[in-house]
Amino acid sequence: MSTRNQEIVKFSDLDSDIQELIRTAVAYRQKAHCPYSNFQVGAALKCDDDSVFGGCNVENVAYGCTICAERTAVVKAVSEGKKVFKHFAITGDVTDGFISPCGSCRQVIVEFGTDVKVYLAKPDFSDVLVTDMDTILPLPFVPTSIPE
Ligand SMILES: [Zn+2]
Repeated sequence: MSTRNQEIVKFSDLDSDIQELIRTAVAYRQKAHCPYSNFQVGAALKCDDDSVFGGCNVENVAYGCTICAERTAVVKAVSEGKKVFKHFAITGDVTDGFISPCGSCRQVIVEFGTDVKVYLAKPDFSDVLVTDMDTILPLPFVPTSIPE
């Protein structure tokens, strides 16, 4: 059974490596190509070997071709041979509450693990909602084993 883990913490109370991961997500947010929604999203993914991959949303005039920041980061990591994720920081233009990954991104992330820690960060480095994939996607559809 899933355990619900989520708590709001101050950015300044997080470990320095997580603060750095959030700073990376905020920096990638600035790279967003979002002329249609004007909604910038940044993501940064830290793997088990401490390598980091950032991503932003990349929209397209054919809206269905758009890719989210989170999936951009996952695609970059996997294409570099990294498949074990530890931490995922996500930030976007949300002022009330916290940004949260869409259903498609949640499914793509759990392909590589349900115990990934997730940091939903405000871009002004104030509050961060700390949670994990098991909490935000309970009872996920996951592979029984991932072929190597
Ligand atoms: Zn998404």
